[in-house]
Amino acid sequence: MRISYDNEISPLARRTADAFLPSFLMDEQYSLIIQRLSVNRTADHTGLHLNAEANVNNVERRYSLDDLEILDPRYTDEDWERRSRELLRRGLLELIGIHPAWGILTGVRPGKLYQKLRKKGFEPSEIAERLQTIYRLEPQKSQLLLEVGKNQEPFLNSHARKIAIYVGIPFCPSRCGYCSFPSHPVRTHGHLIPQFVNSLVQEIRFFATLCYELEWTVEAVYIGGGTPTALKHEDLGHILQELHQFPLEQTVEITVEAGRPETLSDDHLLTCNKWGVNRISVNPQTLHDNTLNRIGREHTVQDFYNAVEKVRRINIPILNMDLIAGLPGEDISNLDQSLSRVMELKPENLTIHTLAPKRAAKWSQDQLKGGLSEIDLADWLGRAGQAIRRQGWKPYYLYRQRRIKAEQENIGYALPGKESLYNIWMMEETRTILGLGGGAITKWVHPKNGSVARLANPKCPATYSQRITENVKEKSIWLRNAIATTDK
Ligand code: SF4
Repeated sequence: MRISYDNEISPLARRTADAFLPSFLMDEQYSLIIQRLSVNRTADHTGLHLNAEANVNNVERRYSLDDLEILDPRYTDEDWERRSRELLRRGLLELIGIHPAWGILTGVRPGKLYQKLRKKGFEPSEIAERLQTIYRLEPQKSQLLLEVGKNQEPFLNSHARKIAIYVGIPFCPSRCGYCSFPSHPVRTHGHLIPQFVNSLVQEIRFFATLCYELEWTVEAVYIGGGTPTALKHEDLGHILQELHQFPLEQTVEITVEAGRPETLSDDHLLTCNKWGVNRISVNPQTLHDNTLNRIGREHTVQDFYNAVEKVRRINIPILNMDLIAGLPGEDISNLDQSLSRVMELKPENLTIHTLAPKRAAKWSQDQLKGGLSEIDLADWLGRAGQAIRRQGWKPYYLYRQRRIKAEQENIGYALPGKESLYNIWMMEETRTILGLGGGAITKWVHPKNGSVARLANPKCPATYSQRITENVKEKSIWLRNAIATTDK
């Protein structure tokens, strides 16, 4: 892709185009010369006016648009600024003549737009209309966003002193070909585990004390990674025990990811039960041994069934299962079979991911290609969503990823009353999340304006352990400074 600009293009328009277009045109051969791209706000407040001209692959194109909707009194001056950039995005899409499923939205969290408009006083029906006309979402995506927004609304109450905790355990039995998470195979990095656990315990103790001092309580704990059950059950038990030093709410939601089913032993489950784990995630990704083998999962479909049987026997109340659509080599019948077999097991939570080939993955871009066409994949995901809803699950959170196949999204479904608070707060960023462990990101949410400040722990377990004393200090100072801005 080659974008060039004629002289009179404003820095705002250039920045918008440079940031926005690569999301769509990554692999396309485009030659785009932008000759005019401007948004004007008239002094007498008659709305915003866009004028755009470009040469796209040697064809001259022109587009102009008046945005009068911004005159709605529920918008503020800040919204006029934001809408200027959104109009530029719309203009760019029109010029190059493409209509992405999610319109001008390119972020990870489209749900935030729904929440923002709700806060301004727009009714869901008004939002639905705007999602299509202003943000250019396809009707199905607008409907999905609305549905998810409504389903998560009861859980979005912000609270300055009630937080969630994320614990990152950056170890797995092996590395899946498509993985871009901070995770290291136990086989090659297992010697780092004892020091990592000690450092994590140090971090937990420090921040548990700080939480008491700040009068924070914890409503949700999520132990992810990586695969926490790749640790010995004694180590997992030690971490869980230490986490109980935090001021936990009586109804605290505690999730442990046992993403790789072969790692989940009876002892792990007894440990989880002992320490109040009430949600567990066992992820088959596909119910086809050939694919599992191909993607480097090192477990079988039978391992998955065995793990599910154990979770049910030990009575952990909420079981989540993840599937991935778009894995190389899988066709519609593979996907149909995986989904129907998973639904037969009636997990309380079901998450349907779409493969998002990442640069950090072990596989090359070529290995990640192949399999279903984008159209077939999008079509299957639409039909799967309907089948899942018919069986009683509801979509309650969603997120998108860069490079996600067929411009789709990842959707978390739950049986009513079984929604994961952590997943909603993490996606919508309405609660402070204290990140502990390898690669964990702490997100502090400003209680008045909702802005989010982020600080990440080192991803590498060796660096995490070596720097733990300084990191804990630095993070506590950073957190106190962030809190101090509340009164300004
Ligand atoms: S189980 Fe998850 S975190 Fe571990 S390697 Fe596979 S995708 Fe990555």
